[in-house]
Amino acid sequence: MRYISTRGQAPALSFEEVVLTGMASDGGLYVPETVPQLSYEELADMAGCSYAEIAFRVMKPYVGGEIDDETFRGIVRDAYRTFSHDAVVPLNQLDANHYLLELFHGPTLAFKDVALQLLGRLLDHFLAKRGERAVIMGATSGDTGSAAIEGCRHCDNLDIFILHPHERVSEVQRRQMTSVLADNVFNIAIEGNFDDAQAMVKASFADQSFLNGTRLVAVNSINWARIMAQIVYYVASAVALGAPHRKASFCVPSANFGNVFAGYMAYRMGLPVERFVIATNANDILHRTLADNDFSKRDLVATLAPSMDIVVSSNFERLLFEAYQRDGKAVAELLERFQDEPTALAEAPLSRLRECFASHSVDDATILEVIREAHQRTQEILDPHTATGYRAAERERGDESVPMITLATAHPAKFAEAVVKAGFPGVPLPPHMEDLLEREERYTVLPAELSAVQAFVAENRR
Ligand SMILES: *Cc1c(COP(=O)(O)O)cnc(C)c1O
Repeated sequence: MRYISTRGQAPALSFEEVVLTGMASDGGLYVPETVPQLSYEELADMAGCSYAEIAFRVMKPYVGGEIDDETFRGIVRDAYRTFSHDAVVPLNQLDANHYLLELFHGPTLAFKDVALQLLGRLLDHFLAKRGERAVIMGATSGDTGSAAIEGCRHCDNLDIFILHPHERVSEVQRRQMTSVLADNVFNIAIEGNFDDAQAMVKASFADQSFLNGTRLVAVNSINWARIMAQIVYYVASAVALGAPHRKASFCVPSANFGNVFAGYMAYRMGLPVERFVIATNANDILHRTLADNDFSKRDLVATLAPSMDIVVSSNFERLLFEAYQRDGKAVAELLERFQDEPTALAEAPLSRLRECFASHSVDDATILEVIREAHQRTQEILDPHTATGYRAAERERGDESVPMITLATAHPAKFAEAVVKAGFPGVPLPPHMEDLLEREERYTVLPAELSAVQAFVAENRR
């Protein structure tokens, strides 16, 4: 399997190269050159298989023989053994035909674990094979940092440095990162805001000379392997509800578009899907684009669903590439215009998107209302991100006889602020994290200066 850039100019890469590379050299994102197909029989054969087995079968064509089957099976098995539920991603039936797909049973209680538990192990595998080491750097305002740390803590060939804004992340989120005391994990609290931290990480990728030739790896959602890992739970949940003999619809709380793009890939591989509903919070660029063809940036709004607070959806580029029928030049032109001014999609690509995507935007007041209402109807306490999905799924339901699967992207204990605001006393952390607030922490406070951060990374990497 080869991977090509959405902007059409960068060289094609192998799977191994694409896992070790972030953005393409032309500024685009990598996608598979062809979409592997799952036949009706192959899907039917997955009924009753374990999650790890389905994961192996769905991802194998993307790996394209670059890891032998037994090794890859082992990597997949190890990655999903870290989840606290035997089903890995259980389905929870809410009413007659509406289901929650609980993606939050991993080590950090959010869906990013599904991808990052696998990505850490894949990186470690390829680095060991090459006899190389690599450094991971990332900036986080919440979920990604802790999921990346948990995904890499056992990786011998990786050192991970995660920057967070000092005293500006919640205590639970900070402790999920800083209580991991592994030798290869370094938490840096930056005396500045999230943008300062992000700018320093970007600058470090642009000029890596401070690492003297050691590879710097990005684990943000533009890494293809993260999308690949997420395709699996669309297939597994639809098969559990009767695919390929019947269709399913999905509703996905969305921000950078990595999650729902993985669903679209499952559909393109042959999974029978009726529609995808995109849920956004008040940061609604995806909804404005689909509903009004208003593809433009707006100022960031801080919401009760902070992991969906974005201005630009980086992975939307991958969908645009398909909507523009893989015309990299057209995508590059559109995105260059978008950087500077409000823009719009051409008519044909937009109508292609509207064939399988609907969208709905949910503000903070509605998030609180939904948490209360869903509890009354189902006894479930939803996290605020999942709450946007619940409302969007109800509003954009479509054919009621088709099962609707809403992706539950985080455990409510992780976002207690919204739950308390909705009038509940809070939600206890699950048993394996009960003592989180007593655990020893380790982190280093640094000024928001690039030279200080780079010196720290250069000194501490192993
Ligand atoms: C990251 C995240 C999202 C958004 O997912 P994307 O792939 O960026 O669209 C939604 N909910 C939670 C809890 C998240 O952590």
